[in-house]
Amino acid sequence: MTDVEPTTDLSVPAEPVMPAWEYAPAPESTEIVRLRERYGLFIGGEFVEPATGGTFPTISPATEEVLAVVSEAGPEDVDRAVRAARSAHDQHWRDLSGAERAKYLYRIARILQERSREFAVLESMDGGKPIKESRDVDLPLAAAHFFYYAGWADKLEYAFPHVEPRPVGVAGQIIPWNFPLLMAAWKLAPALAAGNTSVLKPAETTPLTALLLAEVIQQADLPPGVVNIITGAGATGAALVEHPGADKIAFTGSTDVGKRIQRATAGTGRRLTLELGGKAANIVFDDAPIDQAVEGVINGIFFNQGHVCCAGSRLLVHEPAYDELLDKLKARLGTLRVGDPLDKNTDVGAINSRAQLEKIGELVESGVEEGAQMYQPPCELPDRGFWFVPTLFTGVSQSHRIAREEIFGPVLSIMTFRTPEEAVEKANNTPYGLSAGVWTEKGSRILWMAERLRAGVVWANTFNRFDPASPFGGYKESGFGREGGVHGLEPYLRLEGRP
Ligand code: ADP
Repeated sequence: MTDVEPTTDLSVPAEPVMPAWEYAPAPESTEIVRLRERYGLFIGGEFVEPATGGTFPTISPATEEVLAVVSEAGPEDVDRAVRAARSAHDQHWRDLSGAERAKYLYRIARILQERSREFAVLESMDGGKPIKESRDVDLPLAAAHFFYYAGWADKLEYAFPHVEPRPVGVAGQIIPWNFPLLMAAWKLAPALAAGNTSVLKPAETTPLTALLLAEVIQQADLPPGVVNIITGAGATGAALVEHPGADKIAFTGSTDVGKRIQRATAGTGRRLTLELGGKAANIVFDDAPIDQAVEGVINGIFFNQGHVCCAGSRLLVHEPAYDELLDKLKARLGTLRVGDPLDKNTDVGAINSRAQLEKIGELVESGVEEGAQMYQPPCELPDRGFWFVPTLFTGVSQSHRIAREEIFGPVLSIMTFRTPEEAVEKANNTPYGLSAGVWTEKGSRILWMAERLRAGVVWANTFNRFDPASPFGGYKESGFGREGGVHGLEPYLRLEGRP
């Protein structure tokens, strides 16, 4: 017998090597979107000029191009919108049967489905989020919210037995820029289903899909004044909050502004719900399916550039799993495609605004200065627009700003733990309490953790899952009140006499 030299090395490398995929550009066409040069305010069923004539541009964060000029609503305009909502409420909407209100909501839902491509493209143009997210997440969920609450409109007395549920009146609704259309749907659908009318203020950097929704509302023949959409920045929001004619304020946004709004409404007897910031712990045990956990951790923090109040921005890893998880996370980070939001292969789009980019940069710098180790994969960024390389930090301690403050960007802070008790303690060591994630094979451990985590939502072996039937909201500085599900109707109803 002679020794045969092997010609091929059949040994398996310790770590599977990721193939370097090349992707050809796959841009979504913007032709379907018909932008107006200038938008008025949507009050009483039509677009009207603002009283003071103030305007501001809205830009694409990916190119810094001006997309359109929108109107700035001053106190007079806010007053006009609230009056329009009041008269629509008193003269028509509150007395309409639930089944009739439902017809309008179903109509809006169906039109959103029919025009979903147009909405998705516009959302990505104005906000910078990847088209695959606006197409596959924002739009289907926005339509689902209208469908879901349409289903409740004629069943309120079954949802709240032994009382006669009555609408609160006019709702002032202020929404942020991270999920512009979806947040509009979260606010409007339960309010209208319960018989309220609305004055909705979208965020100043992302007003365009709300203004397109105004067209849908016209198309659906909603009685004039039931939904009014006014654009503007913080001052417009503040004027709406301070207007005594808004019976209820619903706000989603930063904790700072939420605190201001709570102060402004305190003692007025007006209703308030706040959905604010978060600093969620995503907790991975050593018995978790590690490859799935890697995907969940990536989705938890890099979905929508990390502009997500419930983002899993603190990763807590069980020590025995740390080395493997970190290697895999770093490898996965290198495969994320950052760039043109309208490219169908893009995973991480543009940061929503220059101000937000600066805020992320400042917090990341603090992480480096305070002694944490930063890792960023090699990544080419476009020349224009606002971009941030997906980033992770190791060697993070609980006292670092990047472990305590909400970054609202694609930045993950990684810490470790040894026991479930330590994981709970670290996860709850935050002023926030919006969401958490647990990755483990053991069902009993999921339940044990979920009981102890002070968070409105606890995801198990998944993250960032939303369903209109499931209530969402926070503890502590993440706010109060729930959106979604039957719970989401309560803030919009008077349930006097309830046992
Ligand atoms: P972020 O800090 O993430 O930009 P904000 O909380 O400032 O989020 O914005 C969320 C929404 O709140 C936006 O529609 C914004 O215009 C509005 N807003 C900002 N300041 C105020 C305020 N003082 N009163 C009411 N609304 C405000």
